[in-house]
Amino acid sequence: MTNVRFQAGCHCQRFDVNTERSLSRNTRLPEMKLCPHCEQDAVWRVRLHSAPDLHFSMCFECDSVWLEDQEMSDQTGTRFDKHMLSLGRVPDWKDIEKLGPVK
Ligand SMILES: [Zn+2]
Repeated sequence: MTNVRFQAGCHCQRFDVNTERSLSRNTRLPEMKLCPHCEQDAVWRVRLHSAPDLHFSMCFECDSVWLEDQEMSDQTGTRFDKHMLSLGRVPDWKDIEKLGPVK
């Protein structure tokens, strides 16, 4: 009787451990997109405090910017200051709001 109960407990425990391990492995995986230009930092989805509808992706290490519908590679993208000037804005790093890492 005691043995049966012990074995049943073992099975339960092993199942739980496996489930937890697979969950933590999924959350631990860095699903962040590394900047194709500098490969030093993750690319972040950002928007501007002064223009919340204006979304784009940006690397804070080298100031690379990709527009929302733009493919992200080392052949594409622009720079934050250029992007702001092309929009008729003054480049202001304090105006950037980080939304989350690009996956
Ligand atoms: Zn970069």
